[in-house]
Amino acid sequence: MLQPHQPLLDAAVPPQRIPARDQAGPWHSEAVCRRDEAGLFFAPSKEPTAARLSREEAAKRVCARCPVMVECREHALLQPEPYGVWGGLTAAERRVVLARRRRREAELQRAVRVAAAG
Ligand code: SF4
Repeated sequence: MLQPHQPLLDAAVPPQRIPARDQAGPWHSEAVCRRDEAGLFFAPSKEPTAARLSREEAAKRVCARCPVMVECREHALLQPEPYGVWGGLTAAERRVVLARRRRREAELQRAVRVAAAG
């Protein structure tokens, strides 16, 4: 079965960067990007900034019509996937989301400790 981004993973992403696809779940079968022939989802090496921004926006437009965007995004956040566009978010955007989640979790734990201390 084809997996999201498979042609690029096979061709361009070094083996140590290949995500643990077997942990991702059945949503892969509905991924709109199973055949990423345009190479939208991962950056080629030495990609100029303008080209990267344009490619990422095109990838996000694909994600926006994908029926498994939520599942894909959560997978990429939980792994976490360090490269590429997943679930409509770039790697930098996912880092921001993860940082916010960590901050929120820390605040929640602080509030629980304060409440428990009475
Ligand atoms: S949300 Fe985007 S990256 Fe994820 S499976 Fe769909 S098209 Fe692919």
